[in-house]
Amino acid sequence: MNFIFSANFPYKHFTTTKSAGNMKNKAERDSFLRSTALNPADLVLANQVHGNNVKVVKRSDQNTVIDNCDGLITADKNLLLGIFTADCVPILISSSDGEVKAAVHVGWKGLYLGIVENAIRVLINDFCISPKSIKVYICPHIRSCCYKTGAEMEDKFNIKLINGKLDLSAILRDKLESCGVSEIFDVNQCTYHNEQLFFSYRRDCCTERLLSVI
Ligand SMILES: [Zn+2]
Repeated sequence: MNFIFSANFPYKHFTTTKSAGNMKNKAERDSFLRSTALNPADLVLANQVHGNNVKVVKRSDQNTVIDNCDGLITADKNLLLGIFTADCVPILISSSDGEVKAAVHVGWKGLYLGIVENAIRVLINDFCISPKSIKVYICPHIRSCCYKTGAEMEDKFNIKLINGKLDLSAILRDKLESCGVSEIFDVNQCTYHNEQLFFSYRRDCCTERLLSVI
């Protein structure tokens, strides 16, 4: 299968798998999107700098890569929002009525710098969405089974590492819940673990990337 998704998250979305190819490569990406009846020109990407900037995008941003940005938000139903990863956490977000959506690249740096709170804040303040009406889907990423990190993470996130491993999705959930968001879906897949399905930078030092789209 070229992509996976969660049947529980009721908005059109997917994360590509290895067999879809390297989504950083435009030719491979466009070919994959066309194979799923999506128009590559509708896609908006971010250049993903491990920062905390989120940007609201509109029709005129289609087919572009937004600079200095790790999170995209739109109320334009025709746009596709995409995030590249190979271990970091892509999160896909929708208002419960499906009118507003977001895609955010969350590595430990972005998590630490507050990108999750920034994205939720824009949805609440700029789009008047109640946190109770925000649904979040956690895509495949490197999980606590495989993500060995340095002890400095304990101070950064005020946590205790278990066997030296960092649980990004647990921290992510805490941050979402402290923003009032409780509808969180998780596909429960580890990119490092599942070598058949996913690229993993930690495992392979690869340049290939998966693409998560909402
Ligand atoms: Zn794992």
